[in-house]
Amino acid sequence: MSDIMLEVKNLKKYFPVRGSKGRFVHAVDDISFTIEKGKTLGLVGESGCGKSSCARSVIRIYDPDSGTIALDGIDITKMSQKELLPYRKKVQMIFQDPYSSLNARMTVRDIIAEPLVAHNICKTKEEKNELVFEMLYAVGLSTEHANRYAHEFSGGQRQRIGIARALILKPGLIICDEPISALDVSIQAQIVNMLTEFQRQLGLSYLFIAHDLSMVRYVSDDVGVMYLGRIVELCESEEIYKNPLHPYTVGLLASIPVPDPILRKSQEESSMKGDLPSPIDLPSGCRFHTRCPHVIDICKEVEPSLVEVSPGHQVSCHLYHKY
Ligand code: SF4
Repeated sequence: MSDIMLEVKNLKKYFPVRGSKGRFVHAVDDISFTIEKGKTLGLVGESGCGKSSCARSVIRIYDPDSGTIALDGIDITKMSQKELLPYRKKVQMIFQDPYSSLNARMTVRDIIAEPLVAHNICKTKEEKNELVFEMLYAVGLSTEHANRYAHEFSGGQRQRIGIARALILKPGLIICDEPISALDVSIQAQIVNMLTEFQRQLGLSYLFIAHDLSMVRYVSDDVGVMYLGRIVELCESEEIYKNPLHPYTVGLLASIPVPDPILRKSQEESSMKGDLPSPIDLPSGCRFHTRCPHVIDICKEVEPSLVEVSPGHQVSCHLYHKY
């Protein structure tokens, strides 16, 4: 049996621009990565860089335009929704906003049991309740919470309910779509600790999406940095913090606030200019050239490919290519 839980190859997902024929949002543009069983890939980039579209394509909420997605060795790229049903159990999602991702009209019991009902898992109501109660305890809530509604809970508790719903089918892969960015800093650590503990106990794989490199630091085995639909740097987590190569990664690291004034000065020097360009009208050559502090002539004309510059460390930047 393979150690690979998810293998994504050359995935593309474009969205047509409404009322503008022939123009597309290049949300996910030829990206490849793998996630081993029991491991976490952190996918990081600013809002609008395509990381959520990537996650939704992986889980087949969106149908990819091209490329392949293999889940636990099975190619699910072209499966119909009916064929996908058994594989849906293996992948679940935790959403960013614990306020809007839970149905306000359903009790916590029904929210957590939803996947069991969708997959027709339990034969009796008792069986269903038992599994729901088990999950409530596992995420630090109790049976008394089962008949309450989502609005009666704090943000952290709601995210625990979302985690219980994601775990109840015992999936192998969980897509965590910015699961902590809407929470208070004090609660973020609790949720991250809970997710890592579940990973340790159950051997889960995570695709952990965040807009900030500080958020994935303690959960990821590998980190991929996305910019305008492409992965621009991919390597082991420790390596990306110790030895970031792509100027965009350096800029993202520089945007993490630090109290030390000397460090802050060096951060300012490496910071990025301007805003993310439109994913519809992409810059020519390197997509990052309009903001890069190290831009050279070739960058404006030739798009660099993602190449391995040292074992396990891939980067797409002309500064590191040997011509
Ligand atoms: Fe900057 Fe050029 Fe590297 Fe792009 S290819 S990141 S513009 S140096």
